[in-house]
Amino acid sequence: MDQVDCVVVGAGVVGLAVARALALQGREVMVLEAAAGIGTGTSSRNSEVIHAGIYYPQGSLKAKLCVQGRQMLYDYCEARGIGHSRCGKLIVATSDAQVAQLQGIIDKAAANGVFDLVLLTREQARALEPQLECVAAVHSPSTGIVDSHALMLALQGDLENAGGVVVLNSPLAGAECAQSAIKLIASDGTQLQAKTVVNAAGLSAPALAQRFKGLAAQFVPSSYYAKGNYFTLSGRSPFARLIYPVPEAAGLGVHLTIDLGGQAKFGPDVQWVDSPDDLLVDPARGDAFYAEVRKYWPALADGALQAGYAGMRPKLQAPHEPAMDFVIQGPLEHGVPGLVNLFGIESPGLTSSLAIGDYVSEMLLNR
Ligand SMILES: Cc1cc2nc3c(=O)[nH]c(=O)nc-3n(C[C@H](O)[C@H](O)[C@H](O)COP(=O)(O)OP(=O)(O)OC[C@H]3O[C@@H](n4cnc5c(N)ncnc54)[C@H](O)[C@@H]3O)c2cc1C
Repeated sequence: MDQVDCVVVGAGVVGLAVARALALQGREVMVLEAAAGIGTGTSSRNSEVIHAGIYYPQGSLKAKLCVQGRQMLYDYCEARGIGHSRCGKLIVATSDAQVAQLQGIIDKAAANGVFDLVLLTREQARALEPQLECVAAVHSPSTGIVDSHALMLALQGDLENAGGVVVLNSPLAGAECAQSAIKLIASDGTQLQAKTVVNAAGLSAPALAQRFKGLAAQFVPSSYYAKGNYFTLSGRSPFARLIYPVPEAAGLGVHLTIDLGGQAKFGPDVQWVDSPDDLLVDPARGDAFYAEVRKYWPALADGALQAGYAGMRPKLQAPHEPAMDFVIQGPLEHGVPGLVNLFGIESPGLTSSLAIGDYVSEMLLNR
């Protein structure tokens, strides 16, 4: 049986960042990817926003890894010439009742180490974005956007320069975990022995972990899926900054993001579904977008929105249960030497990817 030091399962942005971090430590790394290319999963179905780290509970992994990962990501993009823009965002209150929530958002961000938020009056917000309608707003200057595909290509390049390899069309079927090594079984029956395995299979990570013999079932969370639908705007973006309403329970509300080409899109909304493959956008869902968007952009014309694409959030909690943190389990948690499982890496996973890479590689330092 072939042997390798580290195997990372999944070549999304998180798997690639973890693989890169392990390879830069001098370890031999192989990434097994089921699809025919890198980053074809959730990593190419998101908003490409570099989040500042505003909303997450203090002390959570999401808060810590987002704030740390955001700075690492800006530095990496600048060093490697990856397309990005520190365009900033406005969180807008569109009723008097929401204005009180803005100060709560500023306080929550400060608890996470994000100190650059500024409360704006309606007039100050409209001086930045003349087409915006609001009662008041918060400006986040360290929010930005990134070319996620260029980022993943740079991560793959670093991995390969450090001697690592990405093996495409290679779905992992399961594993047998023992004290000294983990035996991996590919879908075509091929077997491989690794000292270290990182399960970064995104939406499939819990289902895959269920097929790891030797990992107790209690460590594998249930999976739920919250689809996020986007609707794109024809013509140029009316705003230079990202525009977010005050957040809702299960998501960030129908917000406007822009890409590096200046194209604006609205969403993602939140639609709980049964299957992770349910990625078609129902054009009828766009009807609900008009009313939401017009609260902050009254000039939105009838018929201006087109069904775009959808991404799937890998949720660990059912609808109406409290939001869960990222779950990153290593040997200290589940007792299997050399194994790390990454569960529920939803937003801000893209922003956090480089920090997750360092976090996981440090967990495995002495293996
Ligand atoms: C709608 C939406 C919007 C988002 N917006 C943002 C945002 O603006 N900013 C932000 O920071 N984050 C955002 N996120 C979160 C971010 O996109 C994810 O956290 C990130 O892409 C997760 O990357 P990943 O590598 O864990 O998963 P994925 O990209 O899903 O990669 C997992 C990979 O594993 C492979 N795989 C699965 N099973 C196997 C197997 N058995 N064997 C081998 N390979 C396998 C898959 O093919 C896939 O390539 C958003 C997420 C969603 C859903």
